Amino acid sequence: MGQTFEYDVIIVGAGPAGMTAGMYAGRSMLKTVVLERGAAGGELLNTETIEDYPGFEHIEGWDLAQRFENHAKKFGAEFRQTTVTTLRKLPDGSFEAETDSGDTFHAPTAIVTAGGTPIRLGIPGETEYAGKGVSYCAICDGAFFKGHTIAVVGGGDAAVEEADFLTRYASKVYLIHRRDELRASKLLQKRLFENPKVEVIWDTLVDRVEADGQGFVRNLKMHNVKTAAESDLAVTALFVFIGFRPNTGIIDGHVDHDEMGYLLTDVNMETSIDGMFAAGDVRAQLTRQVTTAAGDGTTAAIAAEKYLSSLRDSSVGRVVATGGYAV
Ligand code: NAP
Repeated sequence: MGQTFEYDVIIVGAGPAGMTAGMYAGRSMLKTVVLERGAAGGELLNTETIEDYPGFEHIEGWDLAQRFENHAKKFGAEFRQTTVTTLRKLPDGSFEAETDSGDTFHAPTAIVTAGGTPIRLGIPGETEYAGKGVSYCAICDGAFFKGHTIAVVGGGDAAVEEADFLTRYASKVYLIHRRDELRASKLLQKRLFENPKVEVIWDTLVDRVEADGQGFVRNLKMHNVKTAAESDLAVTALFVFIGFRPNTGIIDGHVDHDEMGYLLTDVNMETSIDGMFAAGDVRAQLTRQVTTAAGDGTTAAIAAEKYLSSLRDSSVGRVVATGGYAV
């Protein structure tokens, strides 16, 4: 039988946005819980080295993740390793997070920082060599492949845009696409075709990623879907851009989102559900970086604190963990 825990703020997801929100909520003396299904870190844990977080010219993803977590804990945020299955707003205006362990978390406000998941190819070698040549983020990892020959998979806007971007670093970029035409916008295609460093490999699927003795990507095994001809491609990186899914499935009820499913917020990171905030990769925005996630998390936590104050001021709140919102 699960238990019910009372908090001031529930934060769903312990990536950079969630941990920063946790830190700020903790600093505001709010009883804060950060719920995370895996280890704290989010996409940081899929990134070998980070070179674009201010103040850290070079830091490993797991190291930065641990620093974020420790910092949030120092200010009182509690971390629970549990999978949230449903987040819903109750008739009294408070939020309830149900988890797979049977425990329920209850608070007058919630911050969704559940991130998103890059869609994987699901081929042998892809997971094994993630961070050692297999990547889902050109801005994060492109600079590691200066002067290299690398490959990108996909035919949509993301793949085409990132293939073009990666030629800033790589000497040659192969764009591998499973059909004979690209899905990407014509403008992006034009830019790609005009780029002398890019070569498109049509009608082709990657079957396997192969690495050297140290686990660094060295070769792709591929086949042509029309002729079934098999081939090898010597590259040091495989960037996969075949789509990204925001993790919004836990939210029970309608919440405004864009056509790709990312949550729409106002400038305070508040969603269309009063008292529910969103921050980081799950939110519709221009770019998805550790810096933007941390910024979003900051705003969301401060806005959540103001929301709680407004509940208290309007005396329509409910009794919560700190006892400050009695009806
Ligand atoms: P997308 O438009 O869904 O394209 C995914 C691409 O990956 C498609 O070309 C698809 O091939 C291919 N693909 C899917 N599964 C595959 C598999 N298992 N093996 C090999 N290839 C596979 O995704 P996206 O490019 O990430 O874009 C998502 C959304 O963001 C789109 O609405 C896009 O317009 C938008 N976006 C816009 C910009 C921009 O405007 N600058 C930049 C990035 C993203 P098929 O074509 O054969 O289906």
